[in-house]
Parts: sequence; C-alpha cells; structure tokens
Amino acid sequence: MRGGKTENTRLGTRSVWAGEDQYLLQGATQVPVVHSVGYGYDDIDQWHEVALGIRHGHIYGRNTNPTVHVFEEKVRLLEGAEAATSFSTGMAAISGTLFTLLRPGDRVVSLVDTYGGTNKIFSEFLPHFNIEPILCPTTDHEAIIDAVEKGAKILYLETPTNPTLKIVDLKRLIEAAHRVGALVIVDNTFATPINQQPLSFGADLVIHSATKFLGGHADALGGIVVGRADLVEQIFHYREINGATLDPMSAYLLLRGMKTLHLRVRQQCTSAMRIAQFLDGHPDVETVYYPGLPGHENHHIAVQQMVQFGGVLSFALKGGFESVRAFLPNLHYAHLAANLGAVETTAGPPRTTSHVELTREERERLGIPETLIRYSVGIEDPEDLLQDLAQGLEQMAYEPDLRT
Ligand SMILES: *Cc1c(COP(=O)(O)O)cnc(C)c1O
Repeated sequence: MRGGKTENTRLGTRSVWAGEDQYLLQGATQVPVVHSVGYGYDDIDQWHEVALGIRHGHIYGRNTNPTVHVFEEKVRLLEGAEAATSFSTGMAAISGTLFTLLRPGDRVVSLVDTYGGTNKIFSEFLPHFNIEPILCPTTDHEAIIDAVEKGAKILYLETPTNPTLKIVDLKRLIEAAHRVGALVIVDNTFATPINQQPLSFGADLVIHSATKFLGGHADALGGIVVGRADLVEQIFHYREINGATLDPMSAYLLLRGMKTLHLRVRQQCTSAMRIAQFLDGHPDVETVYYPGLPGHENHHIAVQQMVQFGGVLSFALKGGFESVRAFLPNLHYAHLAANLGAVETTAGPPRTTSHVELTREERERLGIPETLIRYSVGIEDPEDLLQDLAQGLEQMAYEPDLRT
C-alpha cells in the first residue's frame, strides 16, 4: 500500500508518510478524525476477540482510537521504537510511565534540571508512595552513576534541559544504568527524533511532550511514550484504566503538524545557531546557553549524540530583572508566552514560565539567573529575528534606569 513501508526511509519521508496507510478511508489521502466513542460488532465472537486483544480493532474510545493510533505509529517509526502509547499531555505520559513502573521502596535517579512538572512528580508526589527520588546535579556524570550504582529501578534523563540547555551523555549513563539493571527513560522533547534518538543509545523508553515540537503549532496538547514493547504494554494498560487518553481531534492536529516536523526543526535549529552566535558577545548579554556553541560546557557531548542542537536557546541579560521588563516587550516577533517548539517564536523568563513554582532561591540553586530569557526560535526568516533582537536590546539599553 502507498506509504506502507517507511522503515528504511529517511526521517523527512517518515514524517510525511509513516503510520498512515492502514487508516486511509475510501481513497482519502488524509487520515480521518474518528470521533466515535464506541465501535459496533455484529459478530459477538469477533467482538470478544478484539476485547481480548487477539484481533486488531477498537472497542471504546478511552482504550484506543484509529486517529490516535496513527499518531502513535508515526512517532514510533520516527524514534525507531518497538511500540508506542499516547496520553492527553506530556505530563500525563511522564506521570503515567512513572506510576506504572515504580513500586513502594523503589529508588529513582534523575537530574535537578528536569522539566518543572516532572520535578514536582519526583519531589512532591512519588514520596507519598514511599518512592525515593535522588535528583543529581545535571552535568555531574560521576554523581549520577554513583547514585545509580547504589540501586535504582529507573534512571530518568532529559537532554537538552529546560531552560539552561544542559547536556548529559546518554550513551555513558545508559550503559552505567544497564550494568546495574536499572531502566532508562529519556524525555526527548527538546531534541526531537530529528536531532536525537535515545533508543539507538540503548534507552528503554523515550517520552515526548507532543505539545511542543512534534505538534509544532501550539494548538494541541499531547504526550507519548515509545520503546520496549513489554514496558509500553504495561504503560498502555495503566493509561486505559487511568483515563488520560489523547483526544482524536488533538491527535489529528499533532499528525498534521508532524508532516512538516523535519522542515520546521531543521530551520529552527539553523536559526537558533545563528541567533546564539549573534547574542554571544553582545555587550548587553551576560551569557548565552546553547549546546551548539563551542564554549558550551558539554558541547563535545552534544556533537556526539545530536544532529543539530535544537530550536531553544536561553540568554541572560546584564543588569537585574528590570532589564527583562525593559527588553521583552520590545520584541515584535515573539509571543511572550509559556510554550515552546511552535512555528512562532516564543520568549519568556523562566520565573514566569517553566520554573514559576520555584522560589528565587530555588532558581538560583539551579543556576537560573533572574535575567534569563528562554527563546524558542520559530520558523520566521532568521534575518528578521536577528534584527528584532538587535533593536530590542538597543532600546533596552536606552532605558534611563538601567544604565549608570
Ligand atoms: C512541556 C514539557 C513537558 C510537559 O508537557 P505537557 O504537554 O505540557 O504536559 C515535559 N517535558 C518537557 C521537556 C517539556 O518541555
């Protein structure tokens, strides 16, 4: 069937075609949005076989749905995974995975720099169930390996991290975890499968907030877990009972967005690199955080495990928070908003976005300066974005309160 074999294609072809062939209806070239909650069977035995999972089919919308299934297949094939299951949001995918796999008494090792919501699952919710989270300094590989070797059910990683774009060595940490029998889960949201494929380094599971780059248009929430079939089966079972199911309309929007994933991400990464180079050394900018810059602490690791370096960068302005107040409203081509990975550039300080729940001291401990701005590069022409940033910084510098 047309588009039916994408396993040996490159990622650009796979973004467009993968997963769709089974569900094209009566010659339709696009996947239908199936809103039906129930699926009817005239043959009771057939119905029973589908219900038991012996025969392929759908029973009830909380469990499976045709449109949602195509979305899962596309991400599964892009990440080169055995199996996939989706969720209503990225956080539902993360918490669903952790609550499926962890038991009272287990230890889970992770990084202090995980996504804000993930950090809350570790520090606030898992301890209720007598599960011990050990959150290590993100780039201290020795400390992470040491914590894993003391015993861990799961090593949970994220790279690049949000918002300071730290990089951890996937191959090294996955090997260390597997030596002691720990499972490795990687949140690949920032890198996308276009730039980084953690399963190829041996990770057991990969998670995405599909809300970000996969969907790419900031108009649908979603999450997905891909990887080892035996694990994904358990996670799916938890999801179908727990009920954090992806809505078919959102699945359709995410699918439509993913058709251009490779084009968008390539452009976003190329533009991000140019913008990082421009800001690096700008007189009003204190520090630029981007793994593509040779001066980045873990640039050498990023070069080994990534294709390009992602569409998000951060930079700290000189001065205090007043600089942020003076600078951000000057930007013409950036939504001042909390999301990232969209076709429009978005910018914001972590203290109102990813790390809003933290106190100033907690942010300082994470190495997040008060003047940090997270800048998620859209697909606009990079010349316009460079000009926009240049005029924004110039205007900021003329604010009378900021310069003495
Ligand atoms: C946004 C985000 C999440 C959470 O995803 P939602 O879809 O908002 O629930 C998880 N991890 C990372 C890295 C994210 O950026």
